[in-house]
Amino acid sequence: MGRRPRLFVVSGPAGVGKGTLVARVRQKRPLLGLPVSATTRDPRPGEVNGVSYHFISDPKFDELVKRGEFLEWAQVHDHRYGTLKSEVDACLARGESVILEIDVQGGINVHNMYPDTVRIFIEPPSWDVLVDRLRNRGTESEESLAIRLRTAKSELALASTYDVRIVNDDLDAAVSELASTLERYESEEEGI
Ligand code: 5GP
Repeated sequence: MGRRPRLFVVSGPAGVGKGTLVARVRQKRPLLGLPVSATTRDPRPGEVNGVSYHFISDPKFDELVKRGEFLEWAQVHDHRYGTLKSEVDACLARGESVILEIDVQGGINVHNMYPDTVRIFIEPPSWDVLVDRLRNRGTESEESLAIRLRTAKSELALASTYDVRIVNDDLDAAVSELASTLERYESEEEGI
């Protein structure tokens, strides 16, 4: 049976390890597309413009919205984040499946536009583990931590609306589960 490139959305609360999971699956599957999002937030130490995100100004973001350049965009915490259509199209045109690592609102918007999207939710083993992971990441101020935890609560409440849920407890197990989920959906025949 052949494989077809699919559009996957991976969501989950900040600190759940989505980024690490997706990066590990990409190591197994170097040809998996990962479009770079645009954001109005400032880069964190070590983040590279055009690789981690396209870091852009508020006026530039407005301009791209007006020009219809985003597949979806959302206000997350206190900044805007968006997926550029051009980035996704370039991946699909190369025959690569695309993983969009985006927040819950963004996932819903993409799914409305492309009902064929497969939505995957990454869950923490428990609420306490999530709080610890976020705190230990050490990149957030107490205020920003509180905002992220509030957002996490409302995101976790929507987990049951996703096609697939993966608990990120043991990282290797979660990586295998995510990789086999992608393969399963890529092998599905059209229209199922
Ligand atoms: P961070 O600032 O920690 O890198 O990301 C904050 C949140 O923004 C995460 O939940 C992340 O998934 C989300 N995010 C990143 N890129 C996009 C995007 O292109 N669109 C949407 N809607 N959310 C995004």
